[in-house]
Amino acid sequence: MKVCVAEEAGFCFGVKRALEIIEQLHEKGQNICIYGQLIHNTTVLDDLKARGIDRIDSLDQLDPVKTLIIRTHGIPKETENLLKSRSIPYIDATCPLVKKLQQVIEKLASTSTQLIIVGDKNHPEIIAARSYATSEFSEPIIINSEEEANDLEYFDRIDVVAQTTLDVDLFNQIAFILQNKTKHFQIHNTICKATQVRQTAIKKLAPNVDFVIVAGGKNSSNTRKLFNIALKQNKNTFHIESSKELFNPYFIRKIEHFNSVGITAGASTPPDEIDKIKNFFEKFTIEKEMNHGRTERNSNAER
Ligand code: SF4
Repeated sequence: MKVCVAEEAGFCFGVKRALEIIEQLHEKGQNICIYGQLIHNTTVLDDLKARGIDRIDSLDQLDPVKTLIIRTHGIPKETENLLKSRSIPYIDATCPLVKKLQQVIEKLASTSTQLIIVGDKNHPEIIAARSYATSEFSEPIIINSEEEANDLEYFDRIDVVAQTTLDVDLFNQIAFILQNKTKHFQIHNTICKATQVRQTAIKKLAPNVDFVIVAGGKNSSNTRKLFNIALKQNKNTFHIESSKELFNPYFIRKIEHFNSVGITAGASTPPDEIDKIKNFFEKFTIEKEMNHGRTERNSNAER
Protein backbone atom coordinates (compact mmCIF):
# COMPACT_ATOMS: atom_id res chain seq x y z
CA MET A 1 0.00 0.00 0.00
CA LYS A 2 1.25 3.47 -0.85
CA VAL A 3 1.41 5.51 2.38
CA CYS A 4 1.35 9.33 2.09
CA VAL A 5 1.42 11.76 5.00
CA ALA A 6 0.01 15.25 4.30
CA GLU A 7 2.71 17.93 3.86
CA GLU A 8 1.49 19.62 7.04
CA ALA A 9 -0.02 17.53 9.85
CA GLY A 10 0.08 17.17 13.61
CA PHE A 11 1.45 19.43 16.36
CA CYS A 12 1.18 23.16 15.70
CA PHE A 13 3.21 26.00 17.15
CA GLY A 14 0.70 26.80 19.93
CA VAL A 15 0.52 23.21 21.18
CA LYS A 16 4.31 22.73 21.05
CA ARG A 17 4.76 25.98 22.99
CA ALA A 18 2.28 24.95 25.72
CA LEU A 19 3.91 21.53 26.13
CA GLU A 20 7.38 23.10 26.28
CA ILE A 21 6.21 25.48 29.06
CA ILE A 22 4.89 22.49 31.03
CA GLU A 23 8.01 20.39 30.38
CA GLN A 24 10.33 23.14 31.64
CA LEU A 25 8.31 23.69 34.82
CA HIS A 26 8.01 19.96 35.47
CA GLU A 27 11.78 19.46 35.02
CA LYS A 28 12.42 22.21 37.55
CA GLY A 29 10.21 20.27 39.97
CA GLN A 30 7.49 22.94 40.10
CA ASN A 31 4.10 21.79 41.32
CA ILE A 32 1.66 22.52 38.48
CA CYS A 33 -1.87 21.77 37.33
CA ILE A 34 -3.77 22.68 34.18
CA TYR A 35 -6.96 24.70 33.85
CA GLY A 36 -9.28 22.65 31.60
CA GLN A 37 -8.01 20.41 28.80
CA LEU A 38 -4.57 21.73 27.84
CA ILE A 39 -5.11 20.42 24.32
CA HIS A 40 -7.64 18.04 22.80
CA ASN A 41 -5.61 14.84 22.76
CA THR A 42 -6.28 11.97 25.17
CA THR A 43 -2.84 10.32 24.77
CA VAL A 44 -1.01 13.54 25.69
CA LEU A 45 -3.41 14.30 28.56
CA ASP A 46 -3.11 10.75 29.96
CA ASP A 47 0.67 11.04 29.81
CA LEU A 48 0.59 14.34 31.75
CA LYS A 49 -1.73 12.81 34.33
CA ALA A 50 0.56 9.79 34.75
CA ARG A 51 3.37 12.24 35.56
CA GLY A 52 1.30 13.88 38.29
CA ILE A 53 0.18 16.91 36.27
CA ASP A 54 -3.52 17.13 37.08
CA ARG A 55 -6.31 19.08 35.47
CA ILE A 56 -8.91 21.19 37.25
CA ASP A 57 -12.16 22.52 35.81
CA SER A 58 -12.94 25.15 38.41
CA LEU A 59 -10.91 27.34 40.75
CA ASP A 60 -12.54 25.61 43.74
CA GLN A 61 -10.55 22.48 42.85
CA LEU A 62 -7.22 24.32 42.92
CA ASP A 63 -4.59 23.07 45.36
CA PRO A 64 -2.97 26.30 46.71
CA VAL A 65 0.55 24.86 46.48
CA LYS A 66 0.22 24.40 42.72
CA THR A 67 0.82 26.90 39.92
CA LEU A 68 -2.00 26.99 37.42
CA ILE A 69 -1.29 26.62 33.70
CA ILE A 70 -3.86 28.18 31.37
CA ARG A 71 -4.78 25.95 28.43
CA THR A 72 -4.02 26.82 24.77
CA HIS A 73 -7.67 27.83 24.12
CA GLY A 74 -7.56 30.49 26.86
CA ILE A 75 -9.98 31.22 29.70
CA PRO A 76 -12.72 33.85 30.05
CA LYS A 77 -11.55 37.33 31.00
CA GLU A 78 -13.54 37.26 34.26
CA THR A 79 -11.76 34.04 35.33
CA GLU A 80 -8.36 35.62 34.65
CA ASN A 81 -9.42 38.69 36.65
CA LEU A 82 -10.37 36.38 39.49
CA LEU A 83 -6.92 34.76 39.42
CA LYS A 84 -5.35 38.21 39.63
CA SER A 85 -7.63 39.47 42.38
CA ARG A 86 -6.99 36.33 44.50
CA SER A 87 -3.21 36.49 43.75
CA ILE A 88 -3.31 32.90 42.47
CA PRO A 89 0.00 32.08 40.71
CA TYR A 90 -0.58 31.16 37.07
CA ILE A 91 1.29 30.84 33.80
CA ASP A 92 -0.54 31.64 30.62
CA ALA A 93 -0.06 28.97 27.93
CA THR A 94 -2.85 30.42 25.78
CA CYS A 95 -1.69 30.26 22.14
CA PRO A 96 -0.55 33.75 21.05
CA LEU A 97 -2.88 33.46 18.03
CA VAL A 98 -5.87 32.85 20.31
CA LYS A 99 -4.71 35.85 22.36
CA LYS A 100 -4.68 37.88 19.16
CA LEU A 101 -8.31 36.90 18.48
CA GLN A 102 -9.22 38.01 22.04
CA GLN A 103 -7.50 41.36 21.47
CA VAL A 104 -9.25 41.94 18.12
CA ILE A 105 -12.63 41.17 19.74
CA GLU A 106 -11.90 43.47 22.69
CA LYS A 107 -10.95 46.33 20.36
CA LEU A 108 -13.89 45.94 17.98
CA ALA A 109 -16.42 45.52 20.78
CA SER A 110 -15.59 49.02 22.01
CA THR A 111 -16.65 50.54 18.66
CA SER A 112 -20.12 51.05 17.18
CA THR A 113 -19.82 48.13 14.75
CA GLN A 114 -21.89 44.95 14.90
CA LEU A 115 -19.28 42.31 15.72
CA ILE A 116 -19.92 38.86 14.29
CA ILE A 117 -17.85 35.90 15.50
CA VAL A 118 -17.89 32.86 13.23
CA GLY A 119 -17.27 29.72 15.29
CA ASP A 120 -18.70 27.18 17.70
CA LYS A 121 -20.32 29.06 20.60
CA ASN A 122 -19.82 26.05 22.91
CA HIS A 123 -16.09 25.65 22.21
CA PRO A 124 -13.77 26.82 25.06
CA GLU A 125 -11.87 29.12 22.68
CA ILE A 126 -15.02 30.97 21.65
CA ILE A 127 -16.45 31.05 25.20
CA ALA A 128 -13.17 32.68 26.34
CA ALA A 129 -12.76 34.99 23.33
CA ARG A 130 -16.38 36.19 23.48
CA SER A 131 -15.84 37.30 27.09
CA TYR A 132 -13.47 40.00 25.80
CA ALA A 133 -16.42 41.83 24.23
CA THR A 134 -17.16 43.69 27.44
CA SER A 135 -18.40 46.97 25.97
CA GLU A 136 -22.00 48.09 26.37
CA PHE A 137 -22.17 49.21 22.70
CA SER A 138 -23.47 45.96 21.26
CA GLU A 139 -23.53 42.24 21.93
CA PRO A 140 -21.41 40.17 19.52
CA ILE A 141 -23.36 37.66 17.44
CA ILE A 142 -21.91 34.15 17.15
CA ILE A 143 -22.79 32.13 14.04
CA ASN A 144 -21.42 28.92 12.58
CA SER A 145 -23.21 28.33 9.25
CA GLU A 146 -24.31 29.98 6.02
CA GLU A 147 -27.95 29.54 7.11
CA GLU A 148 -27.34 31.54 10.28
CA ALA A 149 -25.59 34.24 8.24
CA ASN A 150 -28.53 34.40 5.82
CA ASP A 151 -30.97 34.80 8.74
CA LEU A 152 -29.23 37.91 10.08
CA GLU A 153 -30.81 41.35 9.69
CA TYR A 154 -29.21 44.37 8.01
CA PHE A 155 -26.65 46.36 10.06
CA ASP A 156 -25.10 49.75 9.44
CA ARG A 157 -21.62 48.35 9.99
CA ILE A 158 -20.31 44.77 10.36
CA ASP A 159 -16.90 43.46 11.46
CA VAL A 160 -16.39 39.70 11.25
CA VAL A 161 -13.78 37.51 12.98
CA ALA A 162 -13.26 33.74 12.97
CA GLN A 163 -12.46 30.97 15.43
CA THR A 164 -8.75 30.21 14.87
CA THR A 165 -9.51 26.67 13.64
CA LEU A 166 -12.42 27.48 11.34
CA ASP A 167 -12.74 25.96 7.86
CA VAL A 168 -11.31 28.66 5.55
CA ASP A 169 -13.89 27.99 2.82
CA LEU A 170 -16.80 28.27 5.28
CA PHE A 171 -15.44 31.59 6.56
CA ASN A 172 -15.19 32.94 3.00
CA GLN A 173 -18.75 31.77 2.18
CA ILE A 174 -20.13 33.40 5.34
CA ALA A 175 -18.17 36.61 4.71
CA PHE A 176 -19.64 36.71 1.19
CA ILE A 177 -23.19 36.57 2.63
CA LEU A 178 -22.47 39.16 5.34
CA GLN A 179 -21.05 41.75 2.98
CA ASN A 180 -24.52 42.09 1.45
CA LYS A 181 -26.03 42.86 4.85
CA THR A 182 -24.24 46.15 5.46
CA LYS A 183 -22.74 49.26 3.87
CA HIS A 184 -19.49 49.03 5.88
CA PHE A 185 -17.97 45.60 5.96
CA GLN A 186 -14.63 44.56 7.40
CA ILE A 187 -13.15 41.03 7.53
CA HIS A 188 -10.55 40.11 10.16
CA ASN A 189 -9.13 36.76 9.15
CA THR A 190 -8.16 35.34 12.54
CA ILE A 191 -7.90 31.73 11.30
CA CYS A 192 -4.41 30.63 12.27
CA LYS A 193 -1.77 29.74 9.69
CA ALA A 194 -1.31 26.21 11.12
CA THR A 195 -5.03 25.53 10.49
CA GLN A 196 -4.90 26.95 6.97
CA VAL A 197 -1.83 24.98 5.84
CA ARG A 198 -3.18 21.71 7.30
CA GLN A 199 -6.51 22.23 5.51
CA THR A 200 -4.77 23.03 2.19
CA ALA A 201 -2.50 19.98 2.51
CA ILE A 202 -5.37 17.50 3.07
CA LYS A 203 -7.46 19.10 0.30
CA LYS A 204 -4.55 18.37 -2.04
CA LEU A 205 -3.87 14.83 -0.79
CA ALA A 206 -7.38 13.38 -0.19
CA PRO A 207 -8.56 13.08 -3.85
CA ASN A 208 -5.34 11.28 -4.83
CA VAL A 209 -5.49 8.33 -2.42
CA ASP A 210 -7.94 5.43 -1.99
CA PHE A 211 -8.74 6.32 1.62
CA VAL A 212 -7.86 8.89 4.26
CA ILE A 213 -7.05 8.61 7.96
CA VAL A 214 -7.60 11.73 10.07
CA ALA A 215 -6.05 11.36 13.52
CA GLY A 216 -6.97 13.51 16.49
CA GLY A 217 -9.36 14.03 19.38
CA LYS A 218 -13.08 13.62 18.67
CA ASN A 219 -13.60 16.91 20.55
CA SER A 220 -10.80 18.68 18.67
CA SER A 221 -12.28 21.44 16.52
CA ASN A 222 -9.42 21.57 14.02
CA THR A 223 -9.39 17.75 13.64
CA ARG A 224 -13.14 17.70 12.92
CA LYS A 225 -12.63 20.40 10.28
CA LEU A 226 -9.85 18.33 8.66
CA PHE A 227 -12.16 15.29 8.68
CA ASN A 228 -15.01 17.21 6.99
CA ILE A 229 -12.67 18.69 4.38
CA ALA A 230 -11.15 15.27 3.61
CA LEU A 231 -14.62 13.66 3.48
CA LYS A 232 -15.77 16.17 0.84
CA GLN A 233 -12.82 15.07 -1.35
CA ASN A 234 -12.83 11.37 -0.51
CA LYS A 235 -15.80 9.40 0.82
CA ASN A 236 -13.48 6.76 2.31
CA THR A 237 -12.33 9.00 5.16
CA PHE A 238 -11.92 7.68 8.71
CA HIS A 239 -11.48 9.68 11.94
CA ILE A 240 -9.47 7.92 14.65
CA GLU A 241 -8.31 9.16 18.03
CA SER A 242 -5.49 6.68 18.44
CA SER A 243 -3.45 4.31 16.25
CA LYS A 244 -4.80 1.46 18.44
CA GLU A 245 -8.15 1.79 16.61
CA LEU A 246 -6.49 0.56 13.40
CA PHE A 247 -6.24 -2.98 14.78
CA ASN A 248 -10.02 -3.37 14.59
CA PRO A 249 -10.96 -6.32 12.24
CA TYR A 250 -14.02 -4.43 10.88
CA PHE A 251 -11.81 -1.52 9.89
CA ILE A 252 -9.22 -3.84 8.29
CA ARG A 253 -11.94 -5.54 6.25
CA LYS A 254 -13.04 -2.14 4.95
CA ILE A 255 -9.59 -1.06 3.77
CA GLU A 256 -7.79 -4.29 2.83
CA HIS A 257 -8.60 -3.99 -0.88
CA PHE A 258 -7.28 -0.40 -1.10
CA ASN A 259 -3.86 0.42 -2.51
CA SER A 260 -3.10 3.87 -1.10
CA VAL A 261 -3.72 5.81 2.11
CA GLY A 262 -3.42 9.51 2.94
CA ILE A 263 -2.74 10.45 6.56
CA THR A 264 -3.36 13.75 8.29
CA ALA A 265 -3.63 14.73 11.95
CA GLY A 266 -5.04 17.55 14.03
CA ALA A 267 -2.86 20.19 15.64
CA SER A 268 -2.90 18.34 19.01
CA THR A 269 -1.69 15.00 17.62
CA PRO A 270 1.91 14.14 18.58
CA PRO A 271 4.41 13.16 15.84
CA ASP A 272 4.97 9.66 17.33
CA GLU A 273 1.25 8.94 16.88
CA ILE A 274 1.53 9.85 13.18
CA ASP A 275 4.59 7.56 12.93
CA LYS A 276 2.63 4.68 14.52
CA ILE A 277 -0.16 5.10 11.92
CA LYS A 278 2.36 5.25 9.08
CA ASN A 279 4.19 2.15 10.40
CA PHE A 280 0.91 0.27 10.73
CA PHE A 281 0.10 0.70 7.02
CA GLU A 282 3.67 0.01 5.91
CA LYS A 283 3.68 -3.23 7.93
CA PHE A 284 0.17 -3.98 6.66
CA THR A 285 1.55 -3.78 3.09
CA ILE A 286 4.43 -6.17 3.86
CA GLU A 287 2.11 -8.69 5.55
CA LYS A 288 -0.38 -8.45 2.68
CA GLU A 289 2.41 -9.13 0.16
CA MET A 290 3.73 -12.05 2.24
CA ASN A 291 0.23 -13.58 2.46
CA HIS A 292 -0.23 -13.07 -1.27
CA GLY A 293 3.15 -14.78 -1.92
CA ARG A 294 2.18 -17.68 0.37
CA THR A 295 -1.16 -18.13 -1.43
CA GLU A 296 0.57 -18.14 -4.83
CA ARG A 297 3.18 -20.68 -3.70
CA ASN A 298 0.46 -22.95 -2.29
CA SER A 299 -1.59 -22.85 -5.47
CA ASN A 300 1.56 -23.54 -7.60
CA ALA A 301 2.37 -26.53 -5.36
CA GLU A 302 -1.17 -27.85 -5.79
CA ARG A 303 -0.90 -27.62 -9.58
S1 SF4 B 1 -4.29 25.50 16.03
FE1 SF4 B 1 -3.50 27.58 15.70
S2 SF4 B 1 -4.53 28.83 17.21
FE2 SF4 B 1 -4.79 26.71 17.87
S3 SF4 B 1 -3.06 26.33 19.23
FE3 SF4 B 1 -2.38 25.72 17.21
S4 SF4 B 1 -1.36 27.54 16.34
FE4 SF4 B 1 -2.58 28.20 18.09
